Amino acid sequence: MRLIVQKYGGTSVGTPERILSVARRLIQTQGEGSQVVAVISAMAGATDNLLKLAHQISPHPTQRELDILLSTGEHAATALTAMAVNALGGLAISLTGAQAGILTDRNHTKAHIANISPKQIHELLSDDYIVIVAGFQGQTPEGETTTLGRGGSDLTAIALAGALNADACQIFTDVDGVFTCDPRIVLDAKKLKEISYDELLEMAGGGAKVMQSRAVEFAKKFGVEFEVRSSFKKRSGTTTREEAPSMEDVVVRGISLDRRQAKLSIAGVRDEPGIAGRIFSNIAAAHIIVDMIVQNASIAGTTDISFTIHEDELENARKILMPVVGELGGHRLNTTSGVAKLSVVGIGMRSHSGVAARMFECLGQNSINIQLVSTSEIKIAVIVDEKDAERAAQLIHAEFGLGRLLPAASATQPLA
Ligand code: ASP
Ligand code: MG
Repeated sequence: MRLIVQKYGGTSVGTPERILSVARRLIQTQGEGSQVVAVISAMAGATDNLLKLAHQISPHPTQRELDILLSTGEHAATALTAMAVNALGGLAISLTGAQAGILTDRNHTKAHIANISPKQIHELLSDDYIVIVAGFQGQTPEGETTTLGRGGSDLTAIALAGALNADACQIFTDVDGVFTCDPRIVLDAKKLKEISYDELLEMAGGGAKVMQSRAVEFAKKFGVEFEVRSSFKKRSGTTTREEAPSMEDVVVRGISLDRRQAKLSIAGVRDEPGIAGRIFSNIAAAHIIVDMIVQNASIAGTTDISFTIHEDELENARKILMPVVGELGGHRLNTTSGVAKLSVVGIGMRSHSGVAARMFECLGQNSINIQLVSTSEIKIAVIVDEKDAERAAQLIHAEFGLGRLLPAASATQPLA
């Protein structure tokens, strides 16, 4: 018999009506001849509310207590979904992460899954139950509750699909799938039929938040194919899988935009070993996440180092760097907020040349200045002024013929 894992995110179970409609879909899927495991997130906003409560009680709650608290959001949603299935005449049972056999390391609030023993799930499935598993959690070997990091229900679903050797893993969410670009920015953005793990990871790193990145990494490692689709529609979504040769025919799969970035440049630092290490160890000690890093070729023994961080961290980073700039021989620290990162992603870039040239020319012809560039094998990312960012995304989207409506020929015209 077919075994399907379906994951429903917070908005999909955000109200009693929505929980009932999830229950209907579960019963229907089972009726079509499949064993069904559902992984459920906390109702929309529930986890944020619990976190807020915790911080009203204590400025520094322990990670252990946070995990016990946060896991309850999923407990509630899971029990309610099981009740809904049963109320509609189906047969369901809810399980906590621990009961589902999900074993993790001891890293509270961002635990890694170490092992899954799905024996109980298999037994319940063969007794015709729809098995409803609380997402985002597991337990340590000592039986302590852990959670898997924000968005962790995605990881639960992928890991369970892998451990149960499921025939399909469907991630139901509030969007129709993965798009060539955010449809709120590019009106004729197209839903992708398929995307590779690496492309989805690069899109996420570029600001497109469809799935928890750790879940995608896990899926890639264990070859778990999954489909992201809407819980409000019948239509199929986007399948993420191992790349196939045919996928390379498309040079650019998608474009993502990461706003509210800030750029820092230290000009004229000494070009000698250890300087970059000093700069970034100071930044890392403050837990500031650095994205792009660019160092110039040196001229006359000095060089410029630039990097980007989230705009909210700029003040903090400036405070840390100001005192060290002089010590490094640097003569200036320039900072710019209000910039955005535009990433163009596609595994076809491995076998097609000229993608960067085409992208840069398109931006240039439209007077959009490129402030920094970084690349990977399958991505080209540029930093531009935030005020140009949406127009840049629209132009590049058209340039590479990604839209539904515009032929590639009308390429360099802005959409709106
Ligand atoms: N409820 C958790 C969160 O909001 C996990 C999830 O939704 O996947 O992060
Ligand atoms: Mg979520």
